[in-house]
Amino acid sequence: MEMTIKTATEDTDVLIVGAGPTGLALAIALMRSGINTMIVDKLVIGQNTSRAAVIHAHTLEILESINVSDRLVQEGLKLSKFSIRDRDHVLVRLHFDSLPTRYNFLLMLPQDSTERILNEALTDLGGAVRWGCTVEKLVETSGGIHASIATGQGKQVINARYVIGADGMHSLVRETVGIEFAGGSHEQSFILADVDMNWSYGSDEVIQFFSPAGLLVVAPLPSGRYRIVATLDSVPMQLAMTDVQALLDMRGPTYAASKVTYVHWSSHFRLHHRVANQYRRRHFFLVGDAAHVHSPAGGQGMNTGLIDACILGRILSHAILRHKDDSYLDQYEILRRPAAQQVLQLAEQLTQMAIMKGLSKRLVRNVLLRTFSVFPLFRHHLEMNLSGLSRRTAAETNL
Ligand SMILES: Cc1cc2nc3c(=O)[nH]c(=O)nc-3n(C[C@H](O)[C@H](O)[C@H](O)COP(=O)(O)OP(=O)(O)OC[C@H]3O[C@@H](n4cnc5c(N)ncnc54)[C@H](O)[C@@H]3O)c2cc1C
Repeated sequence: MEMTIKTATEDTDVLIVGAGPTGLALAIALMRSGINTMIVDKLVIGQNTSRAAVIHAHTLEILESINVSDRLVQEGLKLSKFSIRDRDHVLVRLHFDSLPTRYNFLLMLPQDSTERILNEALTDLGGAVRWGCTVEKLVETSGGIHASIATGQGKQVINARYVIGADGMHSLVRETVGIEFAGGSHEQSFILADVDMNWSYGSDEVIQFFSPAGLLVVAPLPSGRYRIVATLDSVPMQLAMTDVQALLDMRGPTYAASKVTYVHWSSHFRLHHRVANQYRRRHFFLVGDAAHVHSPAGGQGMNTGLIDACILGRILSHAILRHKDDSYLDQYEILRRPAAQQVLQLAEQLTQMAIMKGLSKRLVRNVLLRTFSVFPLFRHHLEMNLSGLSRRTAAETNL
């Protein structure tokens, strides 16, 4: 007797592939507009790691549209001071408290907390991520896009009008539609560690140290922890407390004392700088790391993805609810691809400055930074750029 295996089929307006911060924010934006949305992720449960640790002012302004900014601010640590130093010498001192925004601070919050808050907001709307669902294949037909999905219970097909690749740097959606991810990679890796430590600079300032040995960032986190970020040529298998202490001793201040007492979490990743050549192809869209990746210097990665999500959410909602014609959807790429290019440039400049080798080059860099930082206009320009407020546009507000 022949057995037929039945494949469950469902229909939706929008299928979001990937439930990282970008996919979650997009799902909330669409559900708030009443759009029929599904969000799937191949993980069995959400990632539970610290990763991106800062949320900037422009991001918080945009996230108001999905009603999560207050919750994020409640849980995060607000910092208004940021400095760039070469060991003991201050090169640039920035203050975010005079920025033209309600969110005149850097909000420090580990990514797992941000994702939990986004998940809760999605649940409040009656939505839920379908965990353990891997999108294996996407086929476009005249009637929409068929997504073949492997789940713990078997195969499933979802027919969607639009498919969004929120599926990270190695995006299947991007590869399926053949969009080039142009750019390159750095030789170096970044290490990250969330630690307990005694730190003489206290917990109200993010400090980026330039040193001949490489970059070091020390950023206070909620619950009294500190985030350490550093560039390394070769990364140890497991980052021990003594490795983190050695980085602080070799790259941090020589006069002030620091003593690491516990490593809660650590990770590392290779540096890439790439932007997708297109953000939209027909009914496919790319958001977040699927569309752009770069160095974490300046902490812009997740922020750029969250803004992509809220803006695409508004554009898609209008397109579906108000029957806008197809060209309206191009707004997304017009608004967001230049923003990613600017962010890439900022992250690349900060990284290149930080990893500069050679005594004379470093001396010139330090003299230039110290001289320019005397001018309020220079400092304001940097503050606006880091907070994302320089990339705020009238078009995104009027959508
Ligand atoms: C170790 C580390 C440290 C970092 N530190 C910082 C930092 O300090 N500052 C900063 O700004 N950024 C940092 N980042 C980057 C930041 O984490 C990313 O920018 C952010 O997670 C991007 O979110 P996303 O939702 O676009 O993609 P992701 O978070 O990568 O989420 C993509 C999701 O898609 C799912 N997925 C992929 N393929 C499929 C498929 N075929 N079917 C179903 N699901 C799929 C994945 O399981 C994943 O959950 C760091 C990243 C790493 C890895």
